[in-house]
Amino acid sequence: MLTSIVDADHIRADPTSLERYGVDALGEGRPPDLVVLPGNTQEVAAIARLCHEQRVPLVVRGGGTGYTGGAVPTRGGVVLSMERFTRILEIDRTNLLAVVEPNVITADLQRAVERVGLFYPPDPASLESSALGGNVAECAGGPRAFKYGTTRRYVLGLEAVLPTGEIVETGSKAVKNVVGYDLTQLLVGSEGTLAIITRITLRLIPKPPARAALLAIFVDVQAAVDAVTALIERRVVPAAIELIDAESLRAVRDQLGEELAPPTAGAMLLVESDGTQAGVDEEIELVKQACRGVGAMRVTLAADEAERERFWNARRLISLALRATGLLKINHDVVVPRGRIPELFGVIDELREQYRLKIAAFGHAGDGNIHVNLMVDRENADERARAREAERVLFERVVALEGSISGEHGIGFAKAPYIGIELSPQEIALMKRVKAAFDPNGILNPGKIFP
Ligand SMILES: Cc1cc2nc3c(=O)[nH]c(=O)nc-3n(C[C@H](O)[C@H](O)[C@H](O)COP(=O)(O)OP(=O)(O)OC[C@H]3O[C@@H](n4cnc5c(N)ncnc54)[C@H](O)[C@@H]3O)c2cc1C
Repeated sequence: MLTSIVDADHIRADPTSLERYGVDALGEGRPPDLVVLPGNTQEVAAIARLCHEQRVPLVVRGGGTGYTGGAVPTRGGVVLSMERFTRILEIDRTNLLAVVEPNVITADLQRAVERVGLFYPPDPASLESSALGGNVAECAGGPRAFKYGTTRRYVLGLEAVLPTGEIVETGSKAVKNVVGYDLTQLLVGSEGTLAIITRITLRLIPKPPARAALLAIFVDVQAAVDAVTALIERRVVPAAIELIDAESLRAVRDQLGEELAPPTAGAMLLVESDGTQAGVDEEIELVKQACRGVGAMRVTLAADEAERERFWNARRLISLALRATGLLKINHDVVVPRGRIPELFGVIDELREQYRLKIAAFGHAGDGNIHVNLMVDRENADERARAREAERVLFERVVALEGSISGEHGIGFAKAPYIGIELSPQEIALMKRVKAAFDPNGILNPGKIFP
């Protein structure tokens, strides 16, 4: 009985809650039969054991901002919401690490560590609402991944509950550890299918003392990509290089009234540099030269911190602006080797024409991770069918470009039918054997990753 594990106050079965916990940022899914809000690891373990014994599907939920339906049941069962796990347990200024519970909001940890001169770089655009457990489970990235890497690089150790109810501790507080298989990194990006993360030890770095952001406007995407190539050839690795296409710029302008680029702009780059003041000044100068060298229409350095924030807010609001169009936004975070971004945009143009679709693309140019958004009229069945066809072709072409169908959002159930485009039958079979070793009864997040 669940009520012998957690107080009745922390169990929800009313229709409003079931509906609320039956959806994430993907906007599709099936409601659970029950929602449980455990308060500590022992309770999580007891709930997992019960679900394992009764063979009831169990789905872990963090901030619910995932784009692939990861936190949403596919066949009812129990949603285990981690929302009571919100404490920052430790910020260790000597060993440069933090120990947190999984539902600390990403930006809250960033602010807390920055107050003591430290830095937690992973910065998904959802950072004000996504939780660190969800970030670990999805291996979240963000603009700064180009210079600093994704969430994976910062996870030193975990406390996790297996679907059978056993509690395991992986890794340690040391920055080096090669004892046995790396279970910590196996759990990073496992999308809540292998274990329930109840505590995370994260590596921190010193906060860069200075930073600056710059916007560059180009006639087309090709010119913007040329600027990125020129930068990298000069061995400049800024903290972030974000590429935004004309369709996305139009949405930000029309929906939010934010005028970052003139209507004639074909593409925009938002570049951020951080480090020492002298290093930032030098890097920004090289960025300006690279942008002007490929014929940028305009290059604007943020005059102060407020303007820098305005640039970034507009970037983070692109998703919202695209949603505000009222169209269904089918978002795919495909990734290609950086040098092949122009070919990816060629594919996007072909898809626009062949399938008569509106497509907005923006994302992390530094690491080739471009968010391709198919913008579809929900009421138009024919357009939806064309979009489904186009997404399959997009994935096939991305893999042919030596890329991947997901750089950071994971597979969930939304992309599960497509993993065979990228993974071999041998890889899928091996992954299923790993899954069975953790979860012999297949109760944890069924219907995810595997078709
Ligand atoms: C506007 C917007 C912008 C976004 N921008 C980015 C971006 O720039 N980069 C990026 O990477 N992503 C981005 N995302 C996607 C999303 O925010 C990330 O995937 C994020 O890491 C999900 O965290 P969450 O806490 O919301 O997880 P949820 O959505 O709650 O869950 C995601 C997955 O993690 C599992 N999970 C959650 N908590 C745990 C736990 N404690 N133990 C085990 N499994 C767990 C769930 O079962 C599920 O499979 C964006 C989303 C939105 C809505």
